[in-house]
Amino acid sequence: MKQTFLARWRRWSRGDPMAFRTLVPDEEIAGRIRAVQINAVMRNSIPMMSAAIVNALTLLIAMRETSYEPIIQNWAFVVVSLASFLMLRQRSRANKQRPQSASTRGIRNAVIYALAMGALWGGVPAFFFVEATSDVKLVIVCLSIGMLCGGSFALATIPVAATAFVAPIVVGAAFAIAREGAFVDHLLAVLLVVYTAVLLRAVSSHAIQLATRVYNHARDEAAAQTDALTHLPNRVSFRRHMSEALARVRRYGEGFALFCFDLDNFKTVNDTMGHSAGDRVLIEVASRLRDATRDVDFVARLAGDEFALIAAHIDDDEDARTLAGRINRAFQSPFVIDGREFICTISIGIAIAPVDGLEMDLLMRHADAALYATKNRQRGTFTLFGDRQHAMRRRSEDQALRRALADRELQLVFQPIVELPTRRTTGFEALLRWNHPERGLLLPAEFIPLAEESGLIDEIGAWVLREAIRIAFGWPEHLRVTVNVSALQFRNPVLDRTLRELVSNGRFPARRLELELTESALVGDNVAARDLLQGFRQLGVRIALDDFGTGYSSLTNILDLPFDRLKIDRAFTANVLATPACGALVKAIVGMSADLNFRITAEGVETPEQLAFLEQTGCQEAQGYLFSRPKVAAELEPMFAECRESGASDLRGRLRVV
Ligand code: C2E
Ligand code: CA
Ligand code: CA
Repeated sequence: MKQTFLARWRRWSRGDPMAFRTLVPDEEIAGRIRAVQINAVMRNSIPMMSAAIVNALTLLIAMRETSYEPIIQNWAFVVVSLASFLMLRQRSRANKQRPQSASTRGIRNAVIYALAMGALWGGVPAFFFVEATSDVKLVIVCLSIGMLCGGSFALATIPVAATAFVAPIVVGAAFAIAREGAFVDHLLAVLLVVYTAVLLRAVSSHAIQLATRVYNHARDEAAAQTDALTHLPNRVSFRRHMSEALARVRRYGEGFALFCFDLDNFKTVNDTMGHSAGDRVLIEVASRLRDATRDVDFVARLAGDEFALIAAHIDDDEDARTLAGRINRAFQSPFVIDGREFICTISIGIAIAPVDGLEMDLLMRHADAALYATKNRQRGTFTLFGDRQHAMRRRSEDQALRRALADRELQLVFQPIVELPTRRTTGFEALLRWNHPERGLLLPAEFIPLAEESGLIDEIGAWVLREAIRIAFGWPEHLRVTVNVSALQFRNPVLDRTLRELVSNGRFPARRLELELTESALVGDNVAARDLLQGFRQLGVRIALDDFGTGYSSLTNILDLPFDRLKIDRAFTANVLATPACGALVKAIVGMSADLNFRITAEGVETPEQLAFLEQTGCQEAQGYLFSRPKVAAELEPMFAECRESGASDLRGRLRVV
């Protein structure tokens, strides 16, 4: 870049000693150079200001009892005050850490103070020389030369400041000497100007040397942090940047995402096309990564074909996915090297700070683990560490559930269904439990969703059916068993097969079995659902519609379906008294049920008030803790035995209150 003289002059006046050289440092390096310049001046400022004070006092003594004494006293007062102020300022900064970079303001201040001090000293020969005695003249010349040399030395790193200090003094002194009139005085004045010019020349070259040293050092440092091939930051710089990012997470909670990349078939490219082609691929990879990311993102090459990215401010999965998708897409277009086209996709692993870790190595390991998962699953895509963990947890839970089925950790408990108002027990609902070896007894809500997601629900459902029938087989004959069937299980042929197998051998009468299905299982494809239900009913199995009042299907929708019983949901039962609308709806449904030929069972009855209300509406059956909590089969056995002995055909009163 060619610079005009004016531009160079402006750079020089802002303290850049290299303004008239070819090197143009960038702003970061310029800031570091300024810091070194200012720090050096600061170091010299206390001795320099002490010298100024001593010199001012010397002049004061020399000019005692002359006509100038009062003016010189004022002058000395100003000089001593300014010097003391600058000394105190420097002292207050002495304990602070020296800055690594400085703005042009620091330089400007140095120039202003140098000019002020220079003007004070330049004024002495300019105004007091003419009338002075030869002794005092000698003192003034000596002091002026001393200040010229000392000031140049103290300000040697900032040529513009040195010039600002020296110029008024040399002008004042040369002018005063020349005014003496003799030839030798003119010669002396010229000599003074020439010497000062030489002095400033020395100052300038000293400052240039210093600035060049800082510049080279900064450049070497940058080179040590940059990958020579791709010009991306290297591993050293990457680690430094990441530790800064982690510090920001800790201090301000500013999260970020760490992306680890791996080229999917770089090795093949390298082996078949040679290293120089491989190098060009890497350069292209760097530029695609840079293009696909934002300016605030930090892309680095860690080694070989390993790249990484620190994505600032990305701390949620969605943003990370968007960025990862964009990067994956950037690698879908072919690379063209030596006229040959080939695809080289990129695999990504992502860890997010702070959720996936707050330690550099841990975070790297997590991103690497996610990358490994991507490579195993589908190259050219991405994996979030959080998702992978979720998948792993699910896989291990899947395995545990499979084992539970094999090791008989699953168990059924039974809750009685009581007829109102006779209080006769008409059957039991089978409810599933998992006796987990470590976590204890688990409720269905804790593992049925997992079973549904993993597809294990069909096997588990079949087991529940068999087990429920096996147990109910030993009960008094009038008692039915009801089994819950989840929505996913309902449409799977396994259910149909198991049912047919169980009821077709004729040992357990189908009418004693009831399936509980929720509305959600039946909505959607209504015709298919109806056909399935009809099929089950033709086998003799009864159908109950479970959890009524929680689903979203319309009443007309479900009333259209063939079922035998409607179970009012626990949440609904709990509201019958509190919310008049719920009570009214229960009444209406009960009223309809007789005409439509189904019975109503209220679930989750817990209080006598709820029971009284239900009885009053004409509700036929109820279930709930008021009668009994679900019990294991063995706990039911004594009641059956007693009932068989007494020849009673029901369990009236037995299960009335827990
Ligand atoms: P659900 O079919 O509505 O079952 C009734 C739930 O209410 C049971 O919870 C039962 O223990 C609880 N309960 C009964 N009376 C009361 C009461 O008075 N107060 C309160 N607060 N709760 C009461 P559980 O056993 O946790 O079962 C939860 C759900 O899991 C069941 O809801 C059912 O949808 C499902 N489930 C249970 N066993 C199976 C199964 O074998 N297969 C399938 N697919 N789902 C099952
Ligand atoms: Ca149920
Ligand atoms: Ca229910």
